Amino acid sequence: MMLDCAIIGGGPAGLTAGLYATRGGLDNVTMFEKGMPGGQITQSSEIENYPGATGHNLSGMDLMIPWPEQCQRFGLKHEMSEVTRVSQNSDKTFTISKSDGSSIMAKSVIVGTGSTPKRAGFEGEDKYFGRGVSTCATCDGFFYKGKEVVVIGGGDTALEEALYLSKICSKVTLVHRRDTFRSAPSTIDRVKNTDNIELVLNAVPKEVTGDPMGVTGLDVILSDGTIRHIDAPGVFTFVGNDVNNQVLLQEDGSFLCDMTPSGQVKVDINMRTSVAGLYATGDMREDAPKQVVCAAGDGAVAALQAITYVDELSHH
Ligand code: FAD
Ligand code: NAP
Repeated sequence: MMLDCAIIGGGPAGLTAGLYATRGGLDNVTMFEKGMPGGQITQSSEIENYPGATGHNLSGMDLMIPWPEQCQRFGLKHEMSEVTRVSQNSDKTFTISKSDGSSIMAKSVIVGTGSTPKRAGFEGEDKYFGRGVSTCATCDGFFYKGKEVVVIGGGDTALEEALYLSKICSKVTLVHRRDTFRSAPSTIDRVKNTDNIELVLNAVPKEVTGDPMGVTGLDVILSDGTIRHIDAPGVFTFVGNDVNNQVLLQEDGSFLCDMTPSGQVKVDINMRTSVAGLYATGDMREDAPKQVVCAAGDGAVAALQAITYVDELSHH
């Protein structure tokens, strides 16, 4: 069996690629997603900047629920599998290897495997991960209803999730290692004007403290070198993401296509990688704006390219 197009990842990029590839006439298109389709935005408590999606308190999950069904209507097949590697064969087709040991061939491949939350690296973070240390406010915020929590980070995610947690928790202490944020000015204003958010700036997380029941607080190093202890049973870290590029890593340790030094996939304006027939989309590609609308746009662009590529192959 030879797919016209294999799509790796079922986030906004992969799902939109699937919609455009199938509606655009490719016959055999399968999207491989290791979990539930929807991608990382399904962990977000609120999305306000997807055009047209103006629902009050719209969560990432609310936004993404209809996408898979829309794709399936046009014939996209969805397989729940983890892809371990995409490699190229001597005839220029691709082999998609899966974690169950099976593989499938494809004429073209669109990769949209997104990114994964980073660990901040303080003492006790791994030990207490899932037992008081979390990277998902939507998933775990409710456990701290009426209690105090710490949020670490100074980007859009940290600030937005601090706002979300401030509605559930009695107090949010936002710890950031600098005194300026990497976030939209309106979000910064909202954080500064929220009574139960305390900002602890120029503060580096040192150690999460705990007992057999779980987390008890966080020690941070302040700019004068002193240590401040913050009491809280929950610590949320939002310190950025790693690019999920492992599927492009080959047996010899090289990548299938050209990458940037930070591990993103190099693409041209049409999402074409350095290998013909292979496209990279969404958060994993060079200069990604890391927005749902952009990931979706990338998926559409890549699918339109794949349609032309597969069509040209059949005329050669
Ligand atoms: P992802 O959404 O990361 O999807 C990739 C998919 O690939 C995942 O479902 C994953 O399971 C799958 N996958 C990975 N590896 C494999 C493999 N080997 N085999 C099979 N499947 C695999 N953006 C906005 O526009 N507005 C917002 O308000 C906003 N808020 C955010 C809040 C939070 C908390 C976070 C974390 C992100 C937010 N973003 C927001 C960013 C947005 O979620 C991402 O830019 C977008 O989801 C990227 O889409 P993607 O399809 O590239 O990747
Ligand atoms: P980010 O922008 O990379 O911010 C990470 C934050 O964590 C930075 O403030 C950084 O500090 C801090 N940090 C990094 N490593 C740390 C460590 N080891 N210890 C302590 N602090 C550490 O990541 P993000 O907020 O997850 O956002 C990722 C992308 O998604 C961005 O492009 C963002 O715009 C986008 N996004 C958009 C929205 C939206 O549009 N509404 C919402 C969420 C995310 P420094 O500032 O000092 O480097």
